[in-house]
Amino acid sequence: MLCDIDGTLAPIVAAPEDARVLPEALAALERLASHYGLVGCVTGRPAAEARALVPVQAVAISGNHGLEVWRDGAVHLAPQAEKYLPAIHEAIQMVRNDGLLPELGSQVEDKGITFTIHFRNSPRADHARRYLETQIVPKLERAGLAYNFGRMVLEVRPPVPVDKGAAVVRLRGRKRIDNLLFVGDDRSDLDAFREATIRIAVNSAEVPRQLIQAADAVVDGPPAVVALLEHLAEVG
Ligand SMILES: [Mg+2]
Repeated sequence: MLCDIDGTLAPIVAAPEDARVLPEALAALERLASHYGLVGCVTGRPAAEARALVPVQAVAISGNHGLEVWRDGAVHLAPQAEKYLPAIHEAIQMVRNDGLLPELGSQVEDKGITFTIHFRNSPRADHARRYLETQIVPKLERAGLAYNFGRMVLEVRPPVPVDKGAAVVRLRGRKRIDNLLFVGDDRSDLDAFREATIRIAVNSAEVPRQLIQAADAVVDGPPAVVALLEHLAEVG
């Protein structure tokens, strides 16, 4: 049993740093981990942050959309991503030294092997986005980094084909698992659905239609995910 965190175990809140996993979810994950072959969380957050949100040692953690795993008390980067760390650091410095981005209301979030430029709080988000497209993206391209625009964000990452699907494969490792259930609420969870045998989508006003279409079942928000986990823990 693998699942996403934000919007799945933790209700969505305005500021990501205020997000909390429902306490009943932690209890249910712990019980599940005692009789399932694999219980883990696969998230876009850095692995260390995810570990702090889900402080249950028996629950495996993959962070930064599969670029990191938490093992033996430390973050381990996907081997193919490691060599891009200096380029990511340089790009963060380049963005931080850009005089205009703060004026445009943009904020940089350093996530280790990736970083995110947020422009949701920009007074003119369209200006911020155009500036990023014309001034920042070409520099990222020259640095050989990958990027994509999300909802009011520009996400920058190493150019390696690692996603939540690869994260599932890595967590599964050599374990013999016949049925793998994945629960998620957003577009990136579609990649994990690819590797799952049972796909559960978490419904919300913002859920992508493709996720609902790809799901075997749909539940209504994090409290319903908790109910599902508790049921699974019960039936063992
Ligand atoms: Mg989510």
